[in-house]
Amino acid sequence: MTNLVVIATFSFPLEAQIARTSLESAGIEVLVADEHTINMDWLYSNAMGGVRLLVESEDVDEARRVLGTDFSQDVDENFLVNEKNATDVIHCRRCGSDQVYAFTKGEPPTFLTFMLLGLPLVFYKHGQKCKDCGAFWY
Ligand SMILES: [Zn+2]
Repeated sequence: MTNLVVIATFSFPLEAQIARTSLESAGIEVLVADEHTINMDWLYSNAMGGVRLLVESEDVDEARRVLGTDFSQDVDENFLVNEKNATDVIHCRRCGSDQVYAFTKGEPPTFLTFMLLGLPLVFYKHGQKCKDCGAFWY
């Protein structure tokens, strides 16, 4: 290894080891710097800026691709967890679609009610409406 480039910096040796394993399984030679320093003295390691992962300059693109793939998988998993935790998703009672939005159905005053009561009466129904099949309920 001659022309080494830092491709990633980690706060903890374990993170660096996981990334190193990914890269090595992809056939990329990796050097982990500052690891021993960190294991001996955590305070000092913070001053050093964590664990550095180095690869040869010609492997940089491939290494970034490998690490990028891993990171995007993490993001997807987090996204799925968040979706599962969401409790305010309402599903359509007719077609089961989640494209449901709050909808207010208003009935404008008729001329007759205006004449009888002397004031315009507007009846509103607050409910949910489905974007997909148009079903409305409240
Ligand atoms: Zn529907």
